[in-house]
Amino acid sequence: MLSYWEHDAWTRYDVIIIGAGIIGLSTAISLKERSPKLSVAVLERGLIPSGASTRNAGFACFGSLTEILHDIAANGENATAAVVRARYSGLQLLRKRLGDEACGYEQHGGAELLFDNNLSALDHLERVNAVLAEIFPQQAFYLHNARIADNGFETKHVKALVQSDFEGQIHSGKMMRSLTALAQERGVMLLFGAEVQHIEERSQDVRLHIRHNDETSILQARQVALCTNAFTSQLAPELGVVPARGQVLVTTPIGGLPFRGVFHFDEGFYYFRNVASPEGQRILFGGGRNLAFEAEETTALTLNDTIQNELERILREVIAPKADFSIEHRWSGIMGFHKSKLPIVKRIGERVVAGFGCNGMGVALGSTIGTETAECIIDQ
Ligand SMILES: Cc1cc2nc3c(=O)[nH]c(=O)nc-3n(C[C@H](O)[C@H](O)[C@H](O)COP(=O)(O)OP(=O)(O)OC[C@H]3O[C@@H](n4cnc5c(N)ncnc54)[C@H](O)[C@@H]3O)c2cc1C
Repeated sequence: MLSYWEHDAWTRYDVIIIGAGIIGLSTAISLKERSPKLSVAVLERGLIPSGASTRNAGFACFGSLTEILHDIAANGENATAAVVRARYSGLQLLRKRLGDEACGYEQHGGAELLFDNNLSALDHLERVNAVLAEIFPQQAFYLHNARIADNGFETKHVKALVQSDFEGQIHSGKMMRSLTALAQERGVMLLFGAEVQHIEERSQDVRLHIRHNDETSILQARQVALCTNAFTSQLAPELGVVPARGQVLVTTPIGGLPFRGVFHFDEGFYYFRNVASPEGQRILFGGGRNLAFEAEETTALTLNDTIQNELERILREVIAPKADFSIEHRWSGIMGFHKSKLPIVKRIGERVVAGFGCNGMGVALGSTIGTETAECIIDQ
């Protein structure tokens, strides 16, 4: 039961955003940039942002060669180029808003490792560069096989390396803390531990039913943005967002680690990078969802032994065969996938807009979707 004061001061806003991930917070910041007088609140079910944005691998990436070839086959050249452009401009916006130090941004470039089974992707390198030519200041991808041995990768397995100089890496925790702080600085009200259970749209406003401490409270807004990514189907099943769990591990510090940067293979199903920690350089390695597609279509934040064991095997046999390490951290996080594989900002009611569709690659894209979600609200 709310007091008169609580009810009067906390329950009514111009806009409420559900979900404090990178899209929700970026939407809130964009709204305040466009219309500083709007009262804006972000509701987050966790004590801290508890979605993919704080549990990812921190790749500031645009898509590897094999991933882009897959997307061109599914969506065509124009749509694929538009998404890569949205990722690239999203990353510039994120860096401009927060500053590189505040999000731990480092630009060591990215690379894709090719094996016997997908070497034929090289035949399409020039075509993909042509598709992306107007996005990047220089060619997006080039062959750089000297790095295979220099970086200590197992040359028996890794047959080619395709370099991309524009990719970078962030510290996802620092980035999300900074984004949270920026939203607060701009006057956004952040309410944590607030799980929205039901959206009730009425003619003049939207009522959000929130469960907290075994009580239901109602918050009201003129407009609502739904930015709940993998959990969207709980509030808007008609949007067809499917959860997909991603698993990650991080090693102990490795003396003399020979590589820096972000690396992908197998259409982005596997990814690894260096992590600069106070104790030294570590390897973060994640992926393997393609080993158990059905089992990984879950929102459970647990681990799958088969996937973890396979990650460890590839790490020891292919990525760092000469290194001495053990595994210090393991976790999972939940991505949200849509069958179109395209970002989506759309009105799902007179007063409710949904912004989603990072499809497992939201670090760079999230700020762009946030801008578009805010525009959709303001242009109503
Ligand atoms: C293991 C893993 C590795 C990844 N690696 C990368 C990478 O290296 N590079 C990259 O670009 N992308 C990566 N991604 C994807 C990226 O993290 C996501 O695309 C991005 O974070 C999505 O942002 P979002 O704001 O849409 O969603 P989220 O960050 O998931 O935010 C949604 C928020 O909504 C909240 N919420 C949900 N339901 C409710 C409710 N009912 N009421 C209130 N709050 C609610 C959740 O708690 C959550 O905080 C990875 C994802 C995973 C899981």
